Amino acid sequence: MENTASTPVSHADLRKRIAPFRVKPRAVVRLGDDSKDFDPGYRDQFVTRADAGLALAEGVRQLGEYQARLAAQSTYAVLVILQAMDAAGKDGTIKHVLSGVNPQGVTVHPFKVPSLIELQHDYLWRYQLQLPERGSIGIFNRSHYEEVLVVRVHPELLGNEHLPGAQTDIWKRRFREINDWERYLADNGVRIVKLFLNLSKQEQRRRFLDRIDEPDKNWKFNVADALERERWDDYQHAYEEVLSATSTKYAPWHVVPADHKWFARLAASWIILDALMDIDPKYPKVDPQTRAKMLEIKERLLAEGRHRE
Ligand code: ATP
Ligand code: MG
Repeated sequence: MENTASTPVSHADLRKRIAPFRVKPRAVVRLGDDSKDFDPGYRDQFVTRADAGLALAEGVRQLGEYQARLAAQSTYAVLVILQAMDAAGKDGTIKHVLSGVNPQGVTVHPFKVPSLIELQHDYLWRYQLQLPERGSIGIFNRSHYEEVLVVRVHPELLGNEHLPGAQTDIWKRRFREINDWERYLADNGVRIVKLFLNLSKQEQRRRFLDRIDEPDKNWKFNVADALERERWDDYQHAYEEVLSATSTKYAPWHVVPADHKWFARLAASWIILDALMDIDPKYPKVDPQTRAKMLEIKERLLAEGRHRE
């Protein structure tokens, strides 16, 4: 495939480019060094950051156009779910990929440790409350998947959730509940785009060191992140299971190579754009009566101008 940087990317081309990142339903997923399918350092045919920058600018421009139509049509919402290990670049991806869309049409919700009030509800409640409305794009910076990731790695967190009775087969059950919920959303006009930014352990080490060494980046470093890094293998395993169990036809997962930030941003823009192209929102056509009324008004406006002349 030739480099199409800076020319609008076609839907067919986009599909081919993102195909390697898509997780097939029920596929057995392996992450990490022995992964045959997902390489965190992958960068397609792009050799340099500048090269990819042009393509990203074009993708961002196209996203802006589609979003304007999505808003005008006001039938579908797009929900982008971002999951990753610390320092994988979630914030930068959001910032760059959405730089070309109308801020009125986007909402971003970071999900942190649940509050006491949130813990008094079923575990999907707080996510349901933040869903994007029709015509807009919603970003979940972390999401309901934390309920089968961080909570799985630290099962003692379940103790805070006020769950009824014994919870047998809890992870399997949660996978099923999440799939059911997402299916309900998809059936009702919420297009779900799930992105896992796949960072290697070595690259996370490099980025943590950077955050420690550079004073202006110190604020980004969190001691707790280093503790979670010690559970790296458990997280990778939890992610593998999530990807296998919850990549569905109606809400597929994409494993985005994240060791090159610039490539991760480009790939994320492609995947979101692909979803918008699938929706292919159209500007609504006005009905003939309204159109006739508009033409009448036009005549009056033109007449006003003639009187003044
Ligand atoms: P950044 O570090 O860039 O600000 P972040 O998403 O890592 O972004 P933090 O405030 O550092 O934000 O971390 C949020 C923490 O909340 C994460 O460790 C995450 O695992 C945790 N968290 C999110 N959802 C849940 C949940 N449902 N139950 C328990 N912990 C959760
Ligand atoms: Mg963090």
